[in-house]
Amino acid sequence: MTRYHEFHRHSIDEPEAFWRNEATRIHWETPFHTVLDRSNPPFARWFVGGRTNLCHNAVDRHLAQRAQQNALIYVSTETGIERKYTYAELYAEVNRMAAVMRALGVKRGERVLIYLPMIPEAVFAMLACARLGAVHSVVFGGFAAPNLAARIDDAQPVLIVTADAGARAGKVIDYAPLIDEALSRAAHKTPRVLLIDRQLTPEKLVAPYLVDYEPLREQFFHAHVQCEWLESNEPSYVLYTSGTTGRPKGVQRDVGGYAVALAASMEYIFQGQPGDTMFTASDVGWVVGHSYIVYAPLLAGLTTVMYEGTPIRPDGGIWWRLVQKYGINLMFTAPTALRVLKKQDPALLKQADLSSLRTLFLAGEPLDEPTATWIAQALGKPVVDNFWQTETGWPILAIQRGVEALPQKLGSPGVPVYGYQLSLRNELTGEACAPGEKGVVTLGYPLPPGCMSTVWGDDSRFASTYWSGAPDQPSYSTFDWGIQDDDGYVTILGRTDDVINVAGHRLGTREIEEALLSHKAVAEVAVVGVTDPVKGQVALAFTVLRDAARYEADDARAALETELTATVDRQLGAIARPARVHVVAMLPKTRSGKLLRRAIAALAEGRDPGDLPTIEDPSALQLIRDALTAQIPVPVPHR
Ligand code: ATP
Ligand code: MG
Repeated sequence: MTRYHEFHRHSIDEPEAFWRNEATRIHWETPFHTVLDRSNPPFARWFVGGRTNLCHNAVDRHLAQRAQQNALIYVSTETGIERKYTYAELYAEVNRMAAVMRALGVKRGERVLIYLPMIPEAVFAMLACARLGAVHSVVFGGFAAPNLAARIDDAQPVLIVTADAGARAGKVIDYAPLIDEALSRAAHKTPRVLLIDRQLTPEKLVAPYLVDYEPLREQFFHAHVQCEWLESNEPSYVLYTSGTTGRPKGVQRDVGGYAVALAASMEYIFQGQPGDTMFTASDVGWVVGHSYIVYAPLLAGLTTVMYEGTPIRPDGGIWWRLVQKYGINLMFTAPTALRVLKKQDPALLKQADLSSLRTLFLAGEPLDEPTATWIAQALGKPVVDNFWQTETGWPILAIQRGVEALPQKLGSPGVPVYGYQLSLRNELTGEACAPGEKGVVTLGYPLPPGCMSTVWGDDSRFASTYWSGAPDQPSYSTFDWGIQDDDGYVTILGRTDDVINVAGHRLGTREIEEALLSHKAVAEVAVVGVTDPVKGQVALAFTVLRDAARYEADDARAALETELTATVDRQLGAIARPARVHVVAMLPKTRSGKLLRRAIAALAEGRDPGDLPTIEDPSALQLIRDALTAQIPVPVPHR
């Protein structure tokens, strides 16, 4: 047994001892009396009776040793603003915001909906809620009014914090009409709206009970607001899942378990030391942003970099220049961003001095082999893929380099993280799979600290959506499909509803996508299963090409399709061969960059894709429709 195996075993066999030890990483105002309460499965309560506060642990606790260290570096390539906040300054800003919220009537346990772009005030507002014991619900800035209204009705906030505008790729997105419409659509009447005026737009919000932040901030400039000491299992926030597979679920998180899990992950997975600088290129509206832009780096005494902008403006070298300028040690983003960067001039990466960078972390969707190989070679540093969900709050699968730097295997995010009792199970029988056998990635009860406590306001939805098996030994489904090898490495093959069944063979769409991506003409690809009268289902592929102009002529296009299907034949066998490989200019994705395969499948079967609240660009759907109806010649079959 290697160090990793021992460590993982210990966390599963003796969870109380393991997590009691990890709990010393944070400050407890009142110590807990019970590490783990498992009296009511599938619910679990961690550190019962303990009182603590996320804001105290992320901010106040560092003042003694690192008041003058930067806590937050803010960079916006949209507005040209760069600002630094030391821990002392962050403390002051959070106290101002907390005092303003308190003056507006926000109390412990009440919800505050934060609908903000990537500006420092988003971090201040989250931490201010934590300080007051209020429950924040951050909604990704720029979601359309109906999505926002649905979340207002679900969370029932007493306050909405918003801004005049967001900015994306040089375009100002006026929030006023969005907020106005959302407020009038929502059944819940939010008593107050707090406006951060960035002065990006002359439009004025006319929301009822609107208050401007700036004069209030002045009024409470020297405020000190006491931290509310919350019982470990009180809610800290509600965050909705990305909505890739349907109606988003309101994930409720606790206080103590989350703080402990994140603090531990900073050592064992991210190897972040106090004083290090971490740049997580995500958005505070997503779970990666909650955990690794805001809470984890601050809990561990790092400097966090918050970035508003795209990875390619002003050019594809911007992130690498930030690494050089701020001496960034840890970077975290999604594979989508890397695929975008891969299409840029590779020289841009070489122009920056990247010597400070130790590791690049990637999560959110499958990391395909060509992208993984490209970035690992270009950087010459470890690239750590990690698999997790909004529900878990921190990684489920990863190479935990702070425990043991096990070798990477291309295509796999690694081995189960300590605390997670992971198994692959047969979709129908629930039986554990043998190594090499495909199954659903499931987690044993209890989930470790930091994972969701319940679905907001709906305990029965939590139990019925995620859990199955015997009542005293339930198991949690990730709804992801995977395969585990003899060494324990798991490869994610797609979501369970992305699995296709061709003449009785179960195939993950991911496997076919990987095969297609190995062809150099292909930049991005989505594979879906569509009903077929003979085979049950067949695979259909939609690709975005690296150099589409080269394949504009019909015969070039047909020849490429022949080559691509032959590539799948070679790698997976003819059974996996897509019936057609269509070329499109863009694929439909969520705003967090995840492929909307279900919508593509619906279109391919002539069905309505339904409501897609989180789609990035709805015109991508029309491109799919066009591709499906285009009269392009069917390629000559090979063999
Ligand atoms: P919804 O649950 O509302 O449909 P979602 O699942 O897209 O939305 P998230 O919680 O943001 O919302 O995404 C988690 C999912 O992302 C995982 O279940 C998995 O499908 C995918 N994922 C995350 N990280 C990885 C990874 N490293 N490799 C493969 N897939 C990943
Ligand atoms: Mg999900």
